[in-house]
Amino acid sequence: MNPPNYLYSGLLFAAGLICLVVSLLTWQLRRPARGSVSLVVLLLALGWWDITYAIFWADLPGLTPYFWLDITYVGAVIVPTSLLVFALQLNGGENWLKPPVIVVLCLEPLLVTLALWSDPWHNLFFGGQREMNAGMILNGGAVFWGNVVYSYALILMAFVLFLRGFFKATGLYRKQAGMILLGLGITWLNSIIFVLGKNPLPGADNTPFSFTLTGLFFAHALFRYRLLDVVPIARSMLVDSMSDGIVVLDSRNRLVDMNPVASELLAQAQIGDPLEKIEEVLPEIVRQFHDKDNLSAEIMLENPTRYLDLRISPVVDSRQQALGRLIVWRDITQLKLLQLELNELATRDMLTHAYNRRHFEELSRVEWARSVRFSHSMSLVLLDIDHFKEVNDSQGHQTGDLVLAEFAKLCEQAKRDEDIFARWGGEEFIFLLPETEGMQAFLFARRLGKLISETPIKGNDSLVNITCSLGVTSSNTTDDSLEAMFQRADQALYEAKRAGRNRAVLWEDKSKEALTP
Ligand code: GH3
Ligand code: MG
Ligand code: MG
Repeated sequence: MNPPNYLYSGLLFAAGLICLVVSLLTWQLRRPARGSVSLVVLLLALGWWDITYAIFWADLPGLTPYFWLDITYVGAVIVPTSLLVFALQLNGGENWLKPPVIVVLCLEPLLVTLALWSDPWHNLFFGGQREMNAGMILNGGAVFWGNVVYSYALILMAFVLFLRGFFKATGLYRKQAGMILLGLGITWLNSIIFVLGKNPLPGADNTPFSFTLTGLFFAHALFRYRLLDVVPIARSMLVDSMSDGIVVLDSRNRLVDMNPVASELLAQAQIGDPLEKIEEVLPEIVRQFHDKDNLSAEIMLENPTRYLDLRISPVVDSRQQALGRLIVWRDITQLKLLQLELNELATRDMLTHAYNRRHFEELSRVEWARSVRFSHSMSLVLLDIDHFKEVNDSQGHQTGDLVLAEFAKLCEQAKRDEDIFARWGGEEFIFLLPETEGMQAFLFARRLGKLISETPIKGNDSLVNITCSLGVTSSNTTDDSLEAMFQRADQALYEAKRAGRNRAVLWEDKSKEALTP
């Protein structure tokens, strides 16, 4: 037996505690992450290894003379196994982890441990050299060496898997893989130091320390680069050849995956970039949808104009824990343009491009409801071109059409932005003036009539002078309705015609006012 070494013991105990705490944290915080379970097992095995070895160096009594050293070995045999499982899980080798493989992987540590504990009966483990392994188990018989070769083979396989993963990875994945490789490098470095006889802890096994460092590097990689959490789920949903744009964000709003369509749109963005990077291209998405988990919306991009049907949905693991968000969009520009065109056809008059009567009625119902709700008055100006039949008769129907179109343009320019203008039918047009009193509307009608009478309108190859009559009414009477307003506007227009045309008439006070020609 070795004399107690409280320095070794203390260091090992601290290392073991760190392993246990980190494994607990990994279990609590990163359980959804790929490889987290095997990492927890790895850290627990290291914790076991460190702490039992610490007890050994503290020289506490055990059940048998080599009790603490012997049970330390349980940690040592589990470490390579869990390391390989971790490597397989993080590097796309999960298919290998079928039940028979898992059974074999678990069986080896079990058999080796049993062989060690039962060595006094068969000598297979130590091969009669028990005394040479007083402070560490470093030499033995067939089972010992078989296990050494087996363990290093597993560690080598894990190393190759991570190395391959490192070269295949890009961006943050590569950094994560690099961090893991660095952790593994410590193990190899330790072995080299040991073989060269430069062990900084003479008489003691420094392997638990190096493996503890390795485990902590792994945990750091898993915590720091949380990327891999989301990828397996997201990947299965992504098809690179899809025509939809797909972006995966992790729970910290970093870009963890995208398909070619997405990277084409987000030209500058790279894997690992924060969401703000996307803001340069899709400010709309970032501004509106920064915190939304579940959303479906149509967005418009400018320069060039593009319409996207965008969907945001949470990415969750099998336990429904949120890992990040999936943003999927479809370019619906063609569809949208067609829809806009159809909408235009449905709401506008073909000849004058003013709104048609049906659409005007729709809009006026909305305006009416608003005016009632906010107790505003609104006004209607109904307009009919005087003696238009004569224009047709003298200049031809085609010129009449052109005049109507030009006339509508003139009206459109004369109105305010908030006013609604439409072709009421034939050579009749109508204005709705929101939040406008009767007198204001009347003055507008008079100004418009004057403008029209003073503006020769372009026909085919001649200029045509026209005048019009205008009927004005406003909604500020009690017990009013939209239908009643249309009727009053019509009556006022009729009066304007009757009074000699080329004038505006305000219905309410029956005032008639002639426009100066
Ligand atoms: P007033 O309103 O002053 O009483 O006389 P008017 O001649 O304008 O009235 P009337 O209702 O008799 O005639 C309306 C004319 O408008 C007849 C019709 O040919 C013409 N018109 C209506 N719609 C169109 C159109 O789309 N294109 C052309 N070129 N003419 C149209
Ligand atoms: Mg007319
Ligand atoms: Mg008419």
